[in-house]
Amino acid sequence: MNLETLKKTARECGIVGAGGAGFPAYAKMTDKADTVILNCVECEPLLKLHRQLLASHPEEIVSMLDEVRETLGAKEAVIGIKSEYTETIKALSGVLSDHTSVRMEQVRPAYPMGDEVVLIYEATGRIVRPGGLPIEQNVVVYNVETMYNLYQAVHKGKSVTSKMVSIVGEIDTPATVRVPVGTLVKDAIVLAGKVTTETPAYLMGGPMMGRLGDENTIITKTTNAIIILDRAHELIMKMDKNLDVERRRASSACCQCRTCTDLCSRHALGHPIEPHRIMRAVANQDVSDLSGFQNSAFCSGCGICEKYACPQGLSPKSIIQEFKTGLRSAGINAGKPDPAPVSEDREYRKVPVHRLTAKLGLSKYDVPSSFDDEVCKVSRVRIPMSQHIGAPANPVVQTGDMVREGQIIGSPSEGLSAGVHASISGTVTNVTEKYIEISSL
Ligand code: SF4
Ligand code: SF4
Repeated sequence: MNLETLKKTARECGIVGAGGAGFPAYAKMTDKADTVILNCVECEPLLKLHRQLLASHPEEIVSMLDEVRETLGAKEAVIGIKSEYTETIKALSGVLSDHTSVRMEQVRPAYPMGDEVVLIYEATGRIVRPGGLPIEQNVVVYNVETMYNLYQAVHKGKSVTSKMVSIVGEIDTPATVRVPVGTLVKDAIVLAGKVTTETPAYLMGGPMMGRLGDENTIITKTTNAIIILDRAHELIMKMDKNLDVERRRASSACCQCRTCTDLCSRHALGHPIEPHRIMRAVANQDVSDLSGFQNSAFCSGCGICEKYACPQGLSPKSIIQEFKTGLRSAGINAGKPDPAPVSEDREYRKVPVHRLTAKLGLSKYDVPSSFDDEVCKVSRVRIPMSQHIGAPANPVVQTGDMVREGQIIGSPSEGLSAGVHASISGTVTNVTEKYIEISSL
């Protein structure tokens, strides 16, 4: 397969990063890459689907990784995986001998190893510049599910119509299930088991970087997990923040211990982000040096400073993210400065995932969960036209149309975009610019 055909297939089949921001997969494909990394680190507590999917389909995923490497003209492919994922590593070892340009890089079970900037350093020793893209270091990164979706598109002609989701926490049978894209949270949960709290809250994604959802939140191509917790769980209570209050708390309680900066995953790689400086400036309302504020652009949002490091329970990440959003909306570009040398203490300052899980009050939910790769049946879906970075897809069906599973219902826009497909067969019951509803009843 040549590069242009691979890109066309990925775009038409609607393949976007299956997790995170949903970057269209085709847009990363370039002959400038010399290394392709498969991200199977999945560092957020309680998330399990990538290690489960790779253990279940090692041959398909590794052969597709090697095929992408070859098509891009890259020298090697690296599977980044946590050393504790022993079952997945065992499954891979039976496959890797057939792929001599693919190697495995085992990393410590620390957070946030799955951050692609961190993983690129771990796997290749290269540093992505602050504000830069992996391709500047000749690297492209795909996660396990994205690579599996590419395999399905290239070898089976299948578009992305379903999503694997780990449903864990306050549920009697924690499970990773495959549901049609556009399934509502309440419909997905009944497929997994019985909720074990009367006042559930739904955390969409991991406990460090996820957001609060509700029963009607839609599962998109980027939804990795639904973590069900009681509304009174500390993690949920802390997500309801008033930033005015948080700034006042910074004024009264930040002792400038700088633990937030010492443990910051990007600071350790030499990126100029220093949360303690921003907290000091906020506390003193000191705007004499704007560089600290400007450097908020280089925060990855990993949450270590706020949910793990700060002994005072303050909210540096939330305050930094507010500045970051402000910079973006004001059109201020912080540039791409050269990074400082990697911190000599970096190895000792990695955050062990089991300790993080305990600190978040989630240890009791860190239990084995079942894995079922068959697509669950649901009778209704609401499919967003924008599940990716870039321009939304354009609806190409009308209310009353009959559609088949896999049929295109949103064509990619000009520029960066991705196609959207019917995830179930049935009748289109509603079409707006933002979503299309389908019912099979
Ligand atoms: S860790 Fe907390 S108290 Fe210490 S400098 Fe950072 S925000 Fe202030
Ligand atoms: S969230 Fe905090 S620890 Fe993470 S990159 Fe941003 S400043 Fe650093």
